[in-house]
This record gives sequence, C-alpha cells and structure tokens, in this order.
Amino acid sequence: MSVNRKPYQLVSREWQPEDTIIDIGGTKIGGANFAIIAGPCAIENEQQVSTICDFLAKCGVRMVRGGAFKPRSSPYAFQGLKEEGLVLLKQAADKNQQKIVSEVMEVATIPIVAKYADVLQVGTRNMQNYPLLKALGKIDKPVLLKRGMSSTIEEWLLAAEYILSGGNKQVILCERGIRTFNNDTRNTLDLGSLALVKTLTHLPVIADPSQGTGVRDLVIPLSKAAMAAGSDGLIVEIHNHPENALSDGEQSLYFDQFKTLLEQIKAYARLEHRNIQLSSNTEDISV
Ligand code: PEP
Ligand code: MN
Repeated sequence: MSVNRKPYQLVSREWQPEDTIIDIGGTKIGGANFAIIAGPCAIENEQQVSTICDFLAKCGVRMVRGGAFKPRSSPYAFQGLKEEGLVLLKQAADKNQQKIVSEVMEVATIPIVAKYADVLQVGTRNMQNYPLLKALGKIDKPVLLKRGMSSTIEEWLLAAEYILSGGNKQVILCERGIRTFNNDTRNTLDLGSLALVKTLTHLPVIADPSQGTGVRDLVIPLSKAAMAAGSDGLIVEIHNHPENALSDGEQSLYFDQFKTLLEQIKAYARLEHRNIQLSSNTEDISV
C-alpha cells in the first residue's frame, strides 16, 4: 500500500493538530481570533503616517502596516523611504501603542527592519527567496509570509516550512491574490485556497483584499468573504489622501470606508463567534 506523503511536515496539521496562535503584544492571530492590520502601502512622510496611525488607533487598530523597502514592478517607481520610513512609522505607532508590520526584501536588511518592526513581511515577489526564508528562520520575530502570485499551495507551504525548519515557529500566512486570466481585478483573491490551506496547516492564515483586488470598493465585500472562508484576519491598505498616494492609491481605503469595514466586520465576527482583535472591543465574544 502506498502512502501519499506530503512534502512538508512542520507546518502540517498532522504534525500539530491544534491551531498555532501568535501573540503580538496582546494581539492574537490564530484560533478563534480575528486580527485587523491596517496602514498605508508605503510610508511617505511624517504627516501621512502619523495621521493614518492616529486614525487607526481611534478605531481600535493595534497593528499597523507600512512599507519602507518597497518591491515595485518599475525601477522608476517610488522605492520607499528605507530606514527613515521605519523611524517615522515607529514614532507614530509607539505614540498609539501599536505594533508594526513591515516588509523585508533581502537578507542584508533584516537587522534594520527587525529593529523597528514587530512582524516582518515577506512579499509575494520574495516568497521563494530561499536565502531570505532561511535567514528569517533564525530570527525571534513573527514572519508574515505572502503567497507568491503564481505559487501553488504546496510551494507556499514549503516556503513556510523553510522558516519553521530553521527554528522560527511564528509564521502567519497571507493570501494576497494570484495571477489568473482575469485582469479586471489586479489579482484574483483565492479564497478557496485560503479555506483549503486552513485544513492543511495549523499556521494562521490571513487575507489581503487590497493587493487581492486592486480596487478599493471591493475591499469590504472581499473582507467579509475572507472571514466566511476561515481567514484569521485581514491586512488592509488605507490612506489619508489615496489620490495622492505614492503607491497603491486606487486600492487604498478612505477613512470613512475603513470605519464601515470595521462596523460590518464586527457584526460578522459576532456571527462567527470570533474574538476581533481591536482595543475598543475587549469583551470576549466567543461562545
Ligand atoms: C504590499 O503589501 O504593499 C505588497 C507589496 O504586497 P505583495 O507582496 O502582496 O504585493
Ligand atoms: Mn501595496
């Protein structure tokens, strides 16, 4: 009798049946929790990042995102403020006791990003950057691993396996849309795969409806769909002036849209018995 063995091990539900729950300064990702991460695509200046972080704090958001090392398709596009940007994000986040998610693109800059960020994001273009994955296996901080835009589930889970096998068990997977024949949306948010991955791995899996659609008006419906599909949270782009954003403005939410998103997602969380991870909502809504 042949046994159909999976090529990955440490990330699998067979290895660990119970959900991994990652605690980032009190915000829990995994299990019955539903985490909300939000912020600009890129850190642009002091005023932009502090306005956005202050607004998010008022909404109860305890984890903010913002890219300082940006992987842009064009070499002529804004590449990010690098360490200067991380300093600005850290100042704005610290003021509001928020934790930081920011992207790291190469091994050499891990120490700089890790100095400021609480979670290191690996972008879709680097999901198979194996030297980077191996190096992140050696750090003591959570890693947010985006799915490669043309990656199979197996390739994605094997990328996570690289990090776990290096010793770092704190990996959060992120479905951010894949390339399909359809180009009316920027990507196709693959919620079927998200639901499937939840059965294959104990690691938390969140959704990025911003990169996943490229269209701000699709972020709310796809956020609700992601929760229904079993997502452990959302990472969402927001901007104080999306029309002037230096990257991804067309998929960045306006502040009032973000408020609507939270109102609706809170109602869905109650329905799904999820503990939404917002500071304004400390009551335990799980039954
Ligand atoms: C981003 O989060 O802004 C980003 C560049 O993500 P991705 O790697 O999914 O394109
Ligand atoms: Mn972006």
